[in-house]
Amino acid sequence: MQINCIKCGSKSIITSRKEVDPKLVQLYCACKNVEHCGHTFVMDLAFSHTISPSAMDRRSLLLDLLQAMPDSERRELLRLADQHN
Ligand SMILES: [Zn+2]
Repeated sequence: MQINCIKCGSKSIITSRKEVDPKLVQLYCACKNVEHCGHTFVMDLAFSHTISPSAMDRRSLLLDLLQAMPDSERRELLRLADQHN
């Protein structure tokens, strides 16, 4: 990941990171243009949105749906799912 200095546009290095929560990390950065700039700053790296759901979410969603179904319907559905393998 490349971070440019907001003052001079030079490449910066990430010196450390602080995890605020699983969706937000603060990156401590230092401008590599030490001679003419030397700016040190903090950038936020934040989760934006899901494009494709995690397999973990799919599994718990399916489990919730299956558990809420009547037994007969669940058995029928599992039988259908097996046929496609
Ligand atoms: Zn700079």
